[in-house]
Amino acid sequence: MKQFEVASIPGDGIGIEVVPQAERVLKAVADVHGGLAFQFHSFPWSCQYYIEHGVMMPENGLEQLKPFDAIFLGAVGDPNLVPDHISLWGLLIQIRREFEQVINMRPAKRLDGIQSPLQNPKDFDLVVIRENSEGEYSTVGGRIHSKEDEVAIQNAVFTRRGTERVMRYAFEVAAKRKCFVTSATKSNGIVHSMPFWDQVFKEVSEGYPAIKTESQHIDALAAFLVTKPASFDVIVASNLFGDILTDIGAAIMGSIGIAPAANINVNGKYPSMFEPVHGSAPDIVGKGLANPIGQIWTAKMMLDHFGEEELGSFLLDAIERVTRKGIVTADLGGAHSTDEVTTAIIDELYNAPSV
Ligand code: ATP
Repeated sequence: MKQFEVASIPGDGIGIEVVPQAERVLKAVADVHGGLAFQFHSFPWSCQYYIEHGVMMPENGLEQLKPFDAIFLGAVGDPNLVPDHISLWGLLIQIRREFEQVINMRPAKRLDGIQSPLQNPKDFDLVVIRENSEGEYSTVGGRIHSKEDEVAIQNAVFTRRGTERVMRYAFEVAAKRKCFVTSATKSNGIVHSMPFWDQVFKEVSEGYPAIKTESQHIDALAAFLVTKPASFDVIVASNLFGDILTDIGAAIMGSIGIAPAANINVNGKYPSMFEPVHGSAPDIVGKGLANPIGQIWTAKMMLDHFGEEELGSFLLDAIERVTRKGIVTADLGGAHSTDEVTTAIIDELYNAPSV
């Protein structure tokens, strides 16, 4: 029996509602499969925890998380209790940075039964692989002088190690999918970092002769994600470009409530973290309106990460059979509750041909 030890951090707002639902689903997946088990260890770190203890997590919080196979996170942030910069930097960003989660991965796929804002989205199924530790979001730079003499400098940092790493990761993912990688560039306007990005892309691609490649300037690429999303497989992007593209990906899926994400540690020293794209959504807390699919699809990404890709596909199929039947929450135009959608997915798992 394979046992996966998962650190659960439901966090704030609807995170507290959707994480237990996704755990129910994973337990059902394990039950149907028969040969594996999940052990969830829940950590109460959140804005409420901050009010009680003055910190988002204990001083040895990272030490506590380190031995786990993965971190399963809901949402962090409740601006009514704690300013966002404190809650984010005190928990989420610390975990991402200290655990060297250098890759961010967000799929975007059309699901049957879910209305995309695009008139004819076709069957798009893509994943954006974003560099998560450097690029345009480096902290190198500063401000000097004041008033009309004021100067602000923000340096973008592209290391060969970080750039090669994200590209190799993208090629490996593509090799398991449709064998096509698109590089998001802007070497016609950004004259140092982006020609370097292009050069590394070309060099890395030579190691993967079976994978088709293309480079697109970020402005055109953003437009193509709207006009022809079905033409993409894997998109590899720098930190800022990836940030923007992934929001378009979530938008064309139909609701932020279904979009999943993963922050991946690639050197195996620390656990990776799985968290949906949406935040704590304080406006819908406590009403049974939260769409659990983002968190459940995120659980599917965790299964993939554990090497259980067949089970991951099994779970995504069950999700899609439920959306196809119109069993969806209010954000997707339905009238079903968080609990009803989860239960319908679990029923589908038990009714499906076994894995
Ligand atoms: P945060 O500051 O934690 O990011 P937020 O409210 O600013 O919170 P989101 O939580 O991403 O940002 O929510 C944006 C909007 O999308 C809200 O109106 C929310 O109700 C809706 N929303 C987000 N997640 C879900 C979900 N899982 N189900 C239904 N609606 C959702």
